[in-house]
Amino acid sequence: MGFHNAEVTKNSSRIKIVYEGPIIVGAGPSGLATAACLKKQGIPSLIIERSNCIASLWQQKTYDRLKLHLPKKFCELPLMGFPANFPKYPSKKQFISYMENYAINFNLNPKFNTEVESAKFDEETMNWRVIIKGDEIEYVSKWLIVATGENAEPLIPEIQGIEKFSGKLVHTSLYKSGNDFGNQRVWLLGVEILEWKLVWTFVGMMLCLTWWSEILFFSVQNYVHILPREMFGLSTFGVAMALLKWFPLRLVDKFLLLVANLTLGNTDQVGLRRPKTGPLELKNATGKTPVLDVGAFSLIKSGKIKVIEGVKEITKNGAKFTDGQEREFDSIILATGYKSNVPFWLKDCEFFSDDGMPKVPFPNGWKGGKGLYTVGFTRRGLLGTASDAIQVAKDIADQWRTIKGHNEILYS
Ligand SMILES: Cc1cc2nc3c(=O)[nH]c(=O)nc-3n(C[C@H](O)[C@H](O)[C@H](O)COP(=O)(O)OP(=O)(O)OC[C@H]3O[C@@H](n4cnc5c(N)ncnc54)[C@H](O)[C@@H]3O)c2cc1C
Repeated sequence: MGFHNAEVTKNSSRIKIVYEGPIIVGAGPSGLATAACLKKQGIPSLIIERSNCIASLWQQKTYDRLKLHLPKKFCELPLMGFPANFPKYPSKKQFISYMENYAINFNLNPKFNTEVESAKFDEETMNWRVIIKGDEIEYVSKWLIVATGENAEPLIPEIQGIEKFSGKLVHTSLYKSGNDFGNQRVWLLGVEILEWKLVWTFVGMMLCLTWWSEILFFSVQNYVHILPREMFGLSTFGVAMALLKWFPLRLVDKFLLLVANLTLGNTDQVGLRRPKTGPLELKNATGKTPVLDVGAFSLIKSGKIKVIEGVKEITKNGAKFTDGQEREFDSIILATGYKSNVPFWLKDCEFFSDDGMPKVPFPNGWKGGKGLYTVGFTRRGLLGTASDAIQVAKDIADQWRTIKGHNEILYS
């Protein structure tokens, strides 16, 4: 990491490094895409990453059999597409190799093992001051780009008695493979329960497929939309995007539900009740992502996976449910989603709401004012990341040129 673009000073408590370009927090797809777009505009950036690698969510917190949920054309980062020989739904391994090549191609070198403890705008100097955990360094820049992701921390539910459970209790971020749970009575606690903010609800559905154990319970308390991953050989996501160009959202929702009912059957009958609001309208209003089924639904229909509703409390050996039933489990896997961690470290910032998401919705949530930007908080996955990264880089480039032009006149 070269700091030729930085000015270093030391006051009594901290070493202050004034960085000429933007500071990007997070070296996931969003941070890397933004740094690449900035580089294309001739702007250096400093990427700060708490873990020891790029794309740490993908490398360290996902299960072995994961594949992209959406076709690759909706998951490409700007300026460099997937290799032509990758399948329609690249595997986790392929996605990571794509990210690694992306970082090499644009010569991106994040500062690893460096966690941002706090960042704050200094009204006096009109700069962002970024403090690193356990370090005496403070980075200073005109621009701060928040790229810490919608999935920064696992969401652990507060269910009565959860601390009493004596079996294995893991969040999906630690789940790797079904082999660790072979022949166990496993309870996959679904995300809808108790209306927590949820992200990627279908994570749970995909996990089911990796198990051959016959006894597996999938719990969904609230209403949930399940859609087939593909319709007529095309991705459901792609079909929806294409139709939305021509038809109103509610009509597209009606069409999606019609096809879903024809292909999957009535999901209500197995305890997976559909909300009254259509899948796209619900997503826009609440951010709740429909479940894209890749085969788990047929396991539910055949009874191999049982759906239970309404957990009352967790006990030492299992759980009690609102219908009076009590069941024993060896393990509980929490498919309860993730949350943003922005409120923990970004101080005195009105731009984000308490849940760590920008208050201004897509497509305008990328610009916060006073040099603050966000990338990857659109609830639209990597497609949203790509759109944010391009806009952020362009906006900063306009300011950069003005500043540079101004300096050139001053010093020529
Ligand atoms: C199981 C799963 C499957 C998914 N599948 C798809 C898919 O098929 N298609 C799709 O479009 N999206 C998918 N997603 C969504 C996924 O979140 C995005 O693909 C992508 O990872 C988001 O990139 P990001 O850079 O915004 O966030 P992240 O990938 O989460 O990267 C954020 C980075 O910031 C770092 N960080 C956090 N806090 C700090 C801090 N305080 N200081 C320093 N660094 C910090 C983290 O360590 C992390 O490396 C999936 C998500 C999950 C969980």
